[in-house]
Amino acid sequence: MTSTLLFGSVAALDQLPATVVIGEKTTVESHAEALPHLSSLKQDVVHELLSAIFDGTTESLAHHYKLPSGSRTSLFVSTFGSELSRNNAPIRGDLVTSTLQKTVPKSGDVRIIVLLKSANQAVTAAVGVSRAFPLYTRKTAKSSDRKIHVELRTVDGSSVDNARIQIISNGVRFASRLVDTTPFELNTDTYLEEVKAVHARLASHGVELTIIRDRELEQGGFGGLWGVGKGADHPPALAILSYKPADAKLTMAWVGKGIIYDTGGLTIKGKDGMPGMKTDMGGSAAVLAGFEAAILSGCKHNLYGLLCLAENAVDSRSFKNDDILTIYSGKTVEINNTDAEGRLVLGDGVAYATKHLNPDIVIDIATLTGAQFITTGKAHCGVLSNNEELERTIIAAGKRSGDLGFPILYAPELLSVAKMYPSEVADMKNSVKDRMNAQCSAAGHFVEQHLVGDHWKEGARGRWAHIDIAAPSVSNERGTGFGVSLFVELAHTL
Ligand SMILES: [Zn+2]
Repeated sequence: MTSTLLFGSVAALDQLPATVVIGEKTTVESHAEALPHLSSLKQDVVHELLSAIFDGTTESLAHHYKLPSGSRTSLFVSTFGSELSRNNAPIRGDLVTSTLQKTVPKSGDVRIIVLLKSANQAVTAAVGVSRAFPLYTRKTAKSSDRKIHVELRTVDGSSVDNARIQIISNGVRFASRLVDTTPFELNTDTYLEEVKAVHARLASHGVELTIIRDRELEQGGFGGLWGVGKGADHPPALAILSYKPADAKLTMAWVGKGIIYDTGGLTIKGKDGMPGMKTDMGGSAAVLAGFEAAILSGCKHNLYGLLCLAENAVDSRSFKNDDILTIYSGKTVEINNTDAEGRLVLGDGVAYATKHLNPDIVIDIATLTGAQFITTGKAHCGVLSNNEELERTIIAAGKRSGDLGFPILYAPELLSVAKMYPSEVADMKNSVKDRMNAQCSAAGHFVEQHLVGDHWKEGARGRWAHIDIAAPSVSNERGTGFGVSLFVELAHTL
């Protein structure tokens, strides 16, 4: 079954079998009159409904009405909490998701009305709605396709940009689908077909696609991608999407980690650590879907989307601990943990971007470290940046977009390669010496080592940020499409 989500004005009540109204408890209570157009219902029925909602039984209520047309409709109303700290979005996107999962009927067309205080809650709410209806499934039970009409209704009358929200929602669900897809189905070959499909969809925008693959990577000096990916049946790839609109004044490169499956390599993960590693390409999915959504919503900047795609497989050809890889930056890395592979492919990606694309801003995004869970928690990504203003911009954009973030320590002088990644025989190792010293930041500083050029130091003109989404990229064993909405927001903010 595929649910199609349609944002905008909603069809008449009696054309759909069910209506679901959700909102913060405070908003629903104080704006009962903004509940769905129940003009076709008698006033006393509406009052009966509202009194039931507000007597404290607010979990979820179903009321079945016979409409004047003779058809029946069901109305479900559910509210959620509105307590928010300063580190949250203007509405709890996670509660939008969980409330809908509990409230929306499992089949049939439905309309959803999300009651909002104001339009500044709209994007977060829309992302929350999108996450409640994932696209990927291999369940065999038959059910039919359906349409879900979503109205984001503001009680202060401020207007919602439904066109942009539709684009963001499509992107979030696209990225989530890629994350949810098994590695059997989504290997580097089929992933590249998805990239080519995005390229084709953006043909009228003049987007170009370059793919560097397999032995081309080895011969081209992409030691990270080649080293990590050469053990797999499906060879690794670097895909580069380019968008160069006329009169662009800023150039941004987004670089995503796309580990199709992470067995850990020869440092193999166990039965507890490996399941779920199909999601280790969430950063690249955010770049791909975010790139498409940013352009469809009118991004005015030069934009590059780089996907570093490889499968970290176990094979006699796999790279080994003690191997030395030469990253595209020219720097050498002694491998002391084949399971710290993401930074190796990202190293190639950021090196390519900074060598060839002349970006003003580089943002890499990755499910990089387990340490991110500990550093910023499960809802917030970790944001490391060489530029304080960019760091603040990303955190603020995160709140508006529903993709929350929090800064992590930027201190390359305290977390230097000599201290954290010392190697006797290469420029650095790939896994930290001291796990009790800001590990999440140290992983980002490793990637920073491969920015090419002398203008990427703190305070210099090159602005770079590293976004670790290890925790928020997945929720309840489902991809969240985390990063897509953030990228769209950044495309229109920076
Ligand atoms: Zn790994």
